[in-house]
Amino acid sequence: MSTFKEIGLKAPIVKALTDLGYEKPTVIQEKAIPQIISSNTDLKAFAQTGTGKTAAFSLPILELLDESNSNVQAIILSPTRELAVQIGKNIEDFCKYLPNVKVTTVYGGANMEQQIRSLKRGSQIVVGTPGRTVDLINRRALKLGNVQWLVLDEADEMLNMGFKDELDKVLEATPETKQTLLFSATFPREVESIARNYMTKPVEITSGEKNQGSDNVSHEYYSVTERTRYPALKRIADLNPDIYAIIFCRTRRETQEVADNLIKDGYSADSLHGDLSQGQRDSVMGKFRKKTIQILVATDVAARGLDVTELTHVLNHKLPDQIENYTHRSGRTGRAGNKGISIVLVNGKEKGKLRAIERIIKKKFVETKVPTGKEIVQNQLMNLIDKVQNTEVNESEISEFLPNIYEKLESLNREELIQKFVSLEFNTMLAYYENAKDLNDLSSRDNSRARSTNENMTRFFINIGRKDSLNPGKLIGLINEQNIGDKIEIGAIDILDTFSFFEIDKNFEDKTLEAFAANQPDFDGRSVNVEITKKERSGGGRRGGKKPFGKKDGGFGRRRSTEGSSKRSSDFGRGKSDRRSSNSSKDRKPGGFGRKRKEKS
Ligand code: AMP
Repeated sequence: MSTFKEIGLKAPIVKALTDLGYEKPTVIQEKAIPQIISSNTDLKAFAQTGTGKTAAFSLPILELLDESNSNVQAIILSPTRELAVQIGKNIEDFCKYLPNVKVTTVYGGANMEQQIRSLKRGSQIVVGTPGRTVDLINRRALKLGNVQWLVLDEADEMLNMGFKDELDKVLEATPETKQTLLFSATFPREVESIARNYMTKPVEITSGEKNQGSDNVSHEYYSVTERTRYPALKRIADLNPDIYAIIFCRTRRETQEVADNLIKDGYSADSLHGDLSQGQRDSVMGKFRKKTIQILVATDVAARGLDVTELTHVLNHKLPDQIENYTHRSGRTGRAGNKGISIVLVNGKEKGKLRAIERIIKKKFVETKVPTGKEIVQNQLMNLIDKVQNTEVNESEISEFLPNIYEKLESLNREELIQKFVSLEFNTMLAYYENAKDLNDLSSRDNSRARSTNENMTRFFINIGRKDSLNPGKLIGLINEQNIGDKIEIGAIDILDTFSFFEIDKNFEDKTLEAFAANQPDFDGRSVNVEITKKERSGGGRRGGKKPFGKKDGGFGRRRSTEGSSKRSSDFGRGKSDRRSSNSSKDRKPGGFGRKRKEKS
């Protein structure tokens, strides 16, 4: 492998890279840097986050740009503010010894005047999110007439996020002569069409790790049903008390729901998705980086800008729609020489996707059983004992209290003392898992007959079933034929012999009833009748109770709106009650233990 000097970078850049601890170019850097330096042919690169792609496109630009000219020479577009800021910071680090190079980062949700002032001072490199970049072009604050390099970073995500029009506008504002560098982890049709329409005979390179999993990551799958998906998730977290993980969800709603449930159940968790304000996102990411929260529930896009290297686990609450994105997700763990585990929860239907993913990652998923209550208790117990063993005793601080304590405990022998201390921490958990079901037994019906698994869905009864040769596909077809609305979300479907159930986005409850009533459809000769099923219970009622134990953290149970619960210095002998959200304070007690809660799942 070559050195940075050998691939054509000048001394001030190499020096900055040495300061950053970059010893050798990564695969994508080794391929892209000399290519961009030596040729102005467009470039199409398959590259994921974590491959060193930021340096791959910014170093050759820094090598070639004219420091004495303050016009914008490079425009770099990235899908999210977080990623744009990260790229801007990386470039500033790279040009530490190029004092005349200026970088401006522009993104929405921040003061535009400040960004305009920075642009006016002159920046050779501008990093921006598509929306704000177009705003600044329209205000004539950003002039791209002299651009030599246009970088489209994470092009697939930009298109996924609906920035097609903005990309078109930026592309139009740049001169024909520029070199376009397109970086994308996947190349769906839309990205290919950008490449076709806006690039001239691009050279293609890959990161060498294209779509392949890291060797440090092991892949596990757990079989679940919709009923056991969330309890299984909790058990996995309970089995791993030091978990530091991202739980990936497909939609903002799913993300919020899982996070809300985890918070309610006493876990150190929070959500990250596009519906949050920029301030909220920054705050959540800050807390996660500092490990004030252990579990981040996130959409794929929102998690992109987050650069954390020590994740113990990545959990796929549901697999991504595009299976290529699985490598993105799993690649968030097993970084910087650490080992990581990527876990997938799959129902019977989703299992089919695993084989396709195995082909991409060139690794096998290991089937893993959802831990039993006993296994969790055992694991937690040993974890506690390890902690006791490793606890440093500050004799000078506690010595004055010890005589009284010794006196009080005098009557207990060593075994009794150990038993009492262990029980103090574990009685609650033992009770919690006392009657815990084996979640690996999927044979029982999904119990979904009259239940909605999702608070945001309304469950409908329909008077046709298997005997009418109805199947899920036909039912979806029938629903769609009623023209209830664009993109209505259809949830769980339960086909029974003579009738069936289906779920529809709550917002379309009335429209669904109206549409079926107005259209009066027939199915296989039977006139169709649709009604809302009676709610059996509220959404939170079956979630399986609060976390039975916890660990040191400052974030349990805190919601964005109720910040400020005190950080604990030790958790031994302290109850989970301090970790719960402020609205549950009425049943808090200082010791917290001794409450009996059965796992209801
Ligand atoms: P990226 O794919 O650009 O997000 O980079 C992923 C991580 O790798 C970042 O933390 C970079 O600082 C780091 N990195 C990039 N290139 C190198 C290199 N040649 N040597 C060591 N670390 C690198």
